[in-house]
Amino acid sequence: MIIDYHVHLERAGITRANAMRFVQQATQRGVCELAFTEHAFNFVELAPLLARPEYVARYGHGFQLADYIRMVRDVARELEDGGSQLKVRLGLEVDYVPETGQALRETLAELDLDVVLGSVHWIGQWGIDLGADTWEGRSRPRACRDYFLLAAEAAASGMFDAIGHPDLVKIYGFTTGEDCRSAMQEGGAELVRAAAESGTCLEVSSAGLRRPVREVYPGLELLRAARVAGIGITLASDAHEPDECGLGLTDAVAWARRAGYTEVTTFSRRVPAVRPLRPEGGETPIALARF
Ligand SMILES: [Zn+2]
Repeated sequence: MIIDYHVHLERAGITRANAMRFVQQATQRGVCELAFTEHAFNFVELAPLLARPEYVARYGHGFQLADYIRMVRDVARELEDGGSQLKVRLGLEVDYVPETGQALRETLAELDLDVVLGSVHWIGQWGIDLGADTWEGRSRPRACRDYFLLAAEAAASGMFDAIGHPDLVKIYGFTTGEDCRSAMQEGGAELVRAAAESGTCLEVSSAGLRRPVREVYPGLELLRAARVAGIGITLASDAHEPDECGLGLTDAVAWARRAGYTEVTTFSRRVPAVRPLRPEGGETPIALARF
């Protein structure tokens, strides 16, 4: 089956009508399970856990968590009652920042969610995906090492069901050169070790295809190592608009298959279940040509 376990309502707003636009697009793209995973910092209750008030003041949406939970659960029930083939899951994407680790653990334990993604977007006060220009004057190998150190910490924490876009540091294509090779390899290996030990999944995300790097997250070498280590995967479009929902997942599935994966992991009330990856023959010549 194809799942999309990483989509954001934020720009559209947390309303039933918007959620349904995502649902319709997901259905058209053959998605069987759709998890809404709004950024935690978009909720007034959870924003302090990011510990970056200026960023939240500028980009946060100030949603109420209870509104989101109620709306997504209502949509899930409505679809189920209507006999829909599509299941909707309730999730969050949470930034992993080491300074709020314990508070985050306690908060997540209290929330009745289906799935929680842990993502690293921040190295200290630097948001690594906030613009290619923010990379100017920075050591790229150092960025790789710092990024994977945090990603491995996030995986080792056991707080998350899956690590979002596991090698996001490559987003602008700055870390694909020889100077970053060993940092990427060693960092990826460290992340795989941590995820295997804690039983945390890695996300296979088509979002990288829409970024300058033009590659699925994570890269094949990392994903193959994850497969060998017995780590489960989720699938993700990381849609921020309804049109992006389910986008590129055929490519993500083909990528996962190339790494040896035949199964995908789903979550209900944070309990994992392993399902066959479909479609079997989904790799179109066009999709493969892009790799
Ligand atoms: Zn996201």
